[in-house]
Amino acid sequence: MGTLNSEAFRLHLTADQDKTPPSGTVQDIYAPSGILYSNNPTQWFAPIKVNATDSGSGIKYILASTTRPTLVNNVETLARVPTILERGAEWYQRLGRDGNAGTKVYCLSGHVKKPGAYELPMGATARELIYDYGGGIRIHGQLKAFSPGGVSSGILPAEMVDIPLDYESLTKASSMLGSGAMIVMDDSTCMVDIALRSAWFFAHENCGECTPCRIGTSRVVQILTKITTGHGSWQDAETLKELGERMHDDSRCGLGQSAPLPFLSSLNHFRGEYQAHIEEKRCPSKVCPASSIVLTPSAQEVSV
Ligand code: SF4
Repeated sequence: MGTLNSEAFRLHLTADQDKTPPSGTVQDIYAPSGILYSNNPTQWFAPIKVNATDSGSGIKYILASTTRPTLVNNVETLARVPTILERGAEWYQRLGRDGNAGTKVYCLSGHVKKPGAYELPMGATARELIYDYGGGIRIHGQLKAFSPGGVSSGILPAEMVDIPLDYESLTKASSMLGSGAMIVMDDSTCMVDIALRSAWFFAHENCGECTPCRIGTSRVVQILTKITTGHGSWQDAETLKELGERMHDDSRCGLGQSAPLPFLSSLNHFRGEYQAHIEEKRCPSKVCPASSIVLTPSAQEVSV
């Protein structure tokens, strides 16, 4: 799904929850993200969340009068094609390790001394990327966790730093290589806070088309906010697990299916941090407000 821009689309607002042809005012609007609903097969289908200033509430269906596609090709793949054609597929395959073919480009960020873009043989370990290329953890820090392929790949603990960065190994670890956007976290990081920040991202970025993702991501933000402010319970943690399974199994696309990975993996690998927030009402890393914030009734409500 690509990003829409205001120049590309003239949008017709229809009645709430109504997919009939547009009867409302034709408007040029800024479309933050999403695909588009239409009853014309040459056009694209999807809902877009309209903001509260548009009359009415919740989600309206919006019809686009454009046929401009939003496909973005994978530049990393395309950039390799000339060299593979020139040197041959066997040459490229030999660059990888342990049966893996070729190389992988990583965007290394977070608490390392030398963040940047690095190209390593497919199958190189996270330790090589973080220490040999990233220069190790920034001053006074110890490696606590890393996210191998962006937040969608979940969080792995420091003890797994020797894991080979290849598709099979990461899948076995309930993670994935994803975009190769590795995020490194040192011991000043709160894993519950990271789960909440990731949840905000998915709640903001989802297109709203299917219920498990649209409602699930908002619900996860509410629950993690309760926990980070010292108002959570183990029942909330159980609810997170159930929600995560439903979102993974029932969401329509990869965004909703991978949205649970950050909180499920942090629950799995850093349960002690959840215990401190839930039972002791404190954040061991002193990042979360823990018990210092009292939630308003509306913040505690579950909107479905
Ligand atoms: S999973 Fe999320 S992003 Fe994907 S179609 Fe459903 S609501 Fe949209």
